[in-house]
Amino acid sequence: MERLSIDLYTIQPLNATNLFGESLEIYPDGIVLNLDYWDCECAKQYIHPTSQEICPHCGAEQEEMPCSREREVIAWRETGCPTGQKLFLTRIALPSEPEDFE
Ligand SMILES: [Zn+2]
Repeated sequence: MERLSIDLYTIQPLNATNLFGESLEIYPDGIVLNLDYWDCECAKQYIHPTSQEICPHCGAEQEEMPCSREREVIAWRETGCPTGQKLFLTRIALPSEPEDFE
């Protein structure tokens, strides 16, 4: 990561709330974190609500993992995937409901 990006993170983020009442942190470089979700180490389905402490698939623990980006949480909430693109491609390949827990 460039020096400039690291310096930006030393600035206190703005706190906000989304339409679902979830807590957000807005950073000066445009990154928005949703504090009510966290990312595990899985390639797919890596967003977990904070009510879930451990990912049953990769074993990552919430305490040691970063909060999710709000943009990815929005896509996950709408499509079930962190990005809409991923689900669109999966749906073409698999007409039945895909199982992405690997
Ligand atoms: Zn995982």
